[in-house]
Amino acid sequence: MPAKIIDGAAIASGLRAEAARRAAALAARGVQPGLAVILVGDDPASAVYVRNKVRACQEAGIHSVLERHDAALTQEALLARIDAFNADAAIHGILVQMPLPKHLDPQRVIQAIASAKDVDGFSIASAGELMTGLPGLRPATPAGCMKLIESTGADLRGKHAVVLGRSNTVGKPMALLLLQAHATVTICHSATKDLAAHVRRADIVVAAVGRRNMVTADMLQPGAIVIDVGINRKDDGKLCGDVDFDAAKAVAGWITPVPGGVGPMTIAMLLMNTLQAAEAAAPIP
Ligand code: NDP
Repeated sequence: MPAKIIDGAAIASGLRAEAARRAAALAARGVQPGLAVILVGDDPASAVYVRNKVRACQEAGIHSVLERHDAALTQEALLARIDAFNADAAIHGILVQMPLPKHLDPQRVIQAIASAKDVDGFSIASAGELMTGLPGLRPATPAGCMKLIESTGADLRGKHAVVLGRSNTVGKPMALLLLQAHATVTICHSATKDLAAHVRRADIVVAAVGRRNMVTADMLQPGAIVIDVGINRKDDGKLCGDVDFDAAKAVAGWITPVPGGVGPMTIAMLLMNTLQAAEAAAPIP
């Protein structure tokens, strides 16, 4: 039986509607949730991502401030802008679009964001909260992947999840979220020996490498849940993920497409994080 397709666009649309309801509930109490987005330089892909985030905020009733800066912006000037947003009570979330121009230190920039406003969930404080299982702001992409997995109705307890990739923004937090859901987790990376053997034992596969056809159908267990985070471009210019989707869908139980899988969830979870930050800043008396 061919895999069921996990419709990330539909699930994200449901979350965006929920975000709009929560934003309206906050507004009724006199609090408009606010997100500040800082874009440095003129990377065209970053400009598109930022535009999509701002538009999603507008649709959900979240106030957004988009600051564009010249690529020559100094580290001190950027840190000063973050400080200003840290102190601004109308702003509940701060996002600095990555990658930054080479002369700026992304770690210093991320750590400058107040942890209560770290809606990307990339700071050491947020990573520590995730690591220890404390409540906090979780990185949007892996949190979105968890929602996609949950949408299948699968009970993760004791299931074997294999995560391909160990970046601080996707692979590692993904593994921790799966662990928190009581899965048994294997993390694979560029030094992993016999990656196919690991994937073959997986009930759940999350591919976050950035390499086309990294996961082929012969590596999959029949019925596996396959979440494809990768974004790659085919020779014809079209987007594809890390999984050989057409062949894999004949073997998997559930699978996400690219585009239309994980991508829409990332923005939806950013909205949810902004609302979580705003609700925490304005608790119901
Ligand atoms: P990184 O480049 O930071 O990390 C890639 C990971 O893949 C690394 O841990 C690397 O291992 C591992 N890797 C590289 N080659 C191999 C290999 N041959 N075998 C096994 N592992 C390998 O990427 P990100 O984590 O930021 O992103 C991963 C992908 O997800 C990209 O395609 C990105 O565009 C996409 N993405 C999509 C998002 C969405 O919203 N859909 C959001 C964020 C990312 P090592 O650590 O050893 O180098």
